[in-house]
Amino acid sequence: MMSDRIPEDEGGLAENEPSAATPKPSPWRRALRWLINDPAAFEPAAGSRAPAEEGSNGACANRVDPLRASFFVALHLVCLLVVVVGVSKAALVLCAILYFLRMFFITGFYHRYFSHRAFRAGRWMTWTMAALGCTAGQRGPLWWAGHHRIHHRFSDTPDDPHSPRHRGRWFSHCLWFLSPRSFAVPTEHVRDWMRFRELRILERIDSVPFILLGVACALLGAWLDRAYPALETGAGQMFVWFSISTVLVYHATYTINSLAHGFGSRRYDTPDDSRNNAWLALITLGEGWHNNHHRYPISARQGFRRWEIDLTWLGLRALAAVGLISDLRPVPDRLLRNADASDHRPPEPASPAGSSSSIGDVSGDTSGDISAPGEQSLEKRRGSRRCECASR
Ligand SMILES: [Zn+2]
Ligand SMILES: [Zn+2]
Repeated sequence: MMSDRIPEDEGGLAENEPSAATPKPSPWRRALRWLINDPAAFEPAAGSRAPAEEGSNGACANRVDPLRASFFVALHLVCLLVVVVGVSKAALVLCAILYFLRMFFITGFYHRYFSHRAFRAGRWMTWTMAALGCTAGQRGPLWWAGHHRIHHRFSDTPDDPHSPRHRGRWFSHCLWFLSPRSFAVPTEHVRDWMRFRELRILERIDSVPFILLGVACALLGAWLDRAYPALETGAGQMFVWFSISTVLVYHATYTINSLAHGFGSRRYDTPDDSRNNAWLALITLGEGWHNNHHRYPISARQGFRRWEIDLTWLGLRALAAVGLISDLRPVPDRLLRNADASDHRPPEPASPAGSSSSIGDVSGDTSGDISAPGEQSLEKRRGSRRCECASR
């Protein structure tokens, strides 16, 4: 059985309790805390703010934090160095490979596995998938899955961490995770994963696989420069194109929060603004079928029709075929038949959030209560409409 709270001395992630009299940390100590994902990085010094503004839920919580934004902005600035280092076929190939691989790590592993448990995997494979996901530079699997589960639970309500309906398109695209409110790992929403010590440790050092990949790209460029000078590449060029690939993966992923909740068609009358968008599905390997996904979040497949290209689904089937994962959850036949019928009806309008059906256990895990106290009123509003997501 999992424990409700993981002790800090076991490599756990402490739940974010404001301390009563914390002295103001130096910028270096704060940067170090940020690097190891310590929520204390955003705790203000005692008495430095009015009580209503303190902590991660106060008035300042949704403002962009300069420290958080500095890395994000710096990575974009590194991309501009392409005018200095130039381009080569080798750099373009590296950029494309890293884009598709890491997009798959995010969609197949972080999203469909850690967030929704759409298939089964052994413990070593689970850790491997977590480490591979970290190479995308989108924080650790527990942070990612926790916030995504909150998104599904509170889709397009004020409690949704990145709803374009309430805070605007840019906030939902990339400003939300640059704010103190979204820094801490929402441990209460990932209790099923918190019991694995190796995942808790990886969560603390999630930037290490990302940094190692960047260094490896630079070393590869240096080696190619010496071994195959005809390729006209080098360490600096490979690092810049690694950064370009990273930024492309970033913004393609973010479009699912910003654009897929506003642009496209609605097959199902889900209680949110989710849309199916073929363009977004192409650049995100299948995530653009977002209305399908909100209708039935725990399926390993998001393209419900044969022509709805879902490359992540194909990739997961390949991993299952060689035995690395198993038990991919299918889309129920009943929903596929509904898809047929819906495709011959006019698009349905978006319902007010919380007013319709199809909210469910988005994690597919019913072994623990992941409801937080603040969720009670929403659960009451949605009442008996928990639906389609029966656990195995
Ligand atoms: Zn969504
Ligand atoms: Zn999801």
